[in-house]
Amino acid sequence: MAGNICNTNVYLPDDAASEKAVRRMFEEQVQWAMDAGVDYIIGETFAHLGEALLALEIIKKSGSAAVVTLAIHKKGVTREGCPPAEACKRLCDAGAEIVGLNCVRGPATILPLLREIRKAVKCPIAALPVPYRTTEVELTFQSLSDPRGPETPHGHPFPTALDPLTCTRYEITEFTRQARDIGVDYIGLCCGAGPHHVRAMAEALGRKPPASRYSPDMSKHYILGTDAHLLKKYQDFIEDL
Ligand SMILES: [Zn+2]
Repeated sequence: MAGNICNTNVYLPDDAASEKAVRRMFEEQVQWAMDAGVDYIIGETFAHLGEALLALEIIKKSGSAAVVTLAIHKKGVTREGCPPAEACKRLCDAGAEIVGLNCVRGPATILPLLREIRKAVKCPIAALPVPYRTTEVELTFQSLSDPRGPETPHGHPFPTALDPLTCTRYEITEFTRQARDIGVDYIGLCCGAGPHHVRAMAEALGRKPPASRYSPDMSKHYILGTDAHLLKKYQDFIEDL
């Protein structure tokens, strides 16, 4: 079981007062996690490398192992302007057991960054994208548009009208295979993930989790299945699909 700390949204680089406030939050939260007997602590969704390094320092001080992942927004660099591969290398060199990326980007736009990170660091790497159909034009789930969707009160599908932009389980299967081939060691999903997505990841890696007993067996579907009796009986329906 992992404990977790994440971006505070009050961190400012080169600001002693903000650093002090963030440090106190992290120390308090890490202590709660350690008191609860966690096996390790995740620091995640940091857009600032400085905040990630601060989180790492405090996790390591507690004696726990640290998984530290960055959230890379549209500009493709941390808020300080550091390329993700270089930022991950600095976290790895500072003692993180696992470094990588989570949130903000979907499978299509996180993979190119993961390739660079894999080349740059020696420690295991983590990938936890959001399960949304981000593109080269709309790199992040905050910037996704939905031409067929209605206006939202805040002008974007993010965060409450992303439903039609969600990846299918098959897209997540494909992402998982590609991530494995790159050399990603620690894999998962971030905001918007459903249990069927996570199960698809496990199955793509050759696992059979308990939830696999509920994976759809399409051979039993009354129209799309393989039962010859049903196929004959529902011939009209099949033609009308
Ligand atoms: Zn997220």
